[in-house]
Amino acid sequence: MKTIQYSVVVPAFNEEPVISETHNRLKKVMDEIGEPYELIFINDGSSDRTGEILDDIHRNDPNLKVIHFSRNFGHEAATTAGLDHASGQGIVIIDADLQDPPELIPAMIEKWKQGFEVVYGKRKQRKGESAFKKTTSALFYRFLQRMTEINMPADVGDFRLIDRKVADALKNIREKNRYMRGIISWVGFRQTAIEFVREERWAGETKYNVKKLLRLAWDAITAFSYKPLKIATYLGFTLSGISFIYLLIVIFEKVFTQKTVPGWASLMAISLFFNGVVLIMLGLLGEYIGRIYDETKNRPLYVIHKAQGFDEKSSKNE
Ligand code: UDP
Ligand code: MG
Repeated sequence: MKTIQYSVVVPAFNEEPVISETHNRLKKVMDEIGEPYELIFINDGSSDRTGEILDDIHRNDPNLKVIHFSRNFGHEAATTAGLDHASGQGIVIIDADLQDPPELIPAMIEKWKQGFEVVYGKRKQRKGESAFKKTTSALFYRFLQRMTEINMPADVGDFRLIDRKVADALKNIREKNRYMRGIISWVGFRQTAIEFVREERWAGETKYNVKKLLRLAWDAITAFSYKPLKIATYLGFTLSGISFIYLLIVIFEKVFTQKTVPGWASLMAISLFFNGVVLIMLGLLGEYIGRIYDETKNRPLYVIHKAQGFDEKSSKNE
């Protein structure tokens, strides 16, 4: 058997309407390249027929391998499982909904052959996504760059090609609240971008609701920065500084002037404001502590129900 040159990792959660089309397009592109490859689809606990369709395709296409999760573990876990099981020298991560065009893969491989270890797709335009999502996402990437020390490129999704060396480095990073794009930036290596127009979803609906997006955003920030904690500290110092000055003024007025110190309303306002600030800071601490707790439990990132098409040694549970 020839050694596999390229792996394509495709996380899929309830992608029944597009999954066969995705397979067709990927197969066409990869066949044309003409080197041994594997397609690894991760069925992230889909509740529709995604899993069955993948099993059917697997029976007819020896290049397609399927990992079924025991439940939905999320996009980042699915990607991780794909990388853990990929045996290619160049590994492509691509969404299952055809928003990232498979036809860009040859260009990525070209860059990779020039010596870049990470080639990411940079979205110069996003079709079919709401103005709200585009604005919040653009703001988020810029905010994240300010908050963290690592240089994470803006407007870059998960669509990218990484070298074997990068995938091996990623295997040692088992943090639970994962932000893969950040982690891939963190490991370094020579990185470059290819611009592309992000298409509309081919079919189906986005699997990221506001709640999941917020979670991802929190994970991204907390995993790569303590700045929120620092800001909390600075805010604490500033506010108590101001309060101290105010205290001096109050004492001065009481002792040296006839003015009565104004009462209830201002007191109430200040007290409520400070309580609010304290609660926010406690919540912030909670976010970090919760994540520390997740790490100490040391649970696996995902549980595999069934893996098809891998040889024995590689189909392990992580
Ligand atoms: N996905 C997944 N598990 C999840 C959510 C999403 O594997 O819990 C996959 C999904 O099937 C798709 C990719 O992650 O291939 C990106 O999801 P989606 O297209 O819904 O996100 P968007 O493009 O809207 O940001
Ligand atoms: Mg999508």
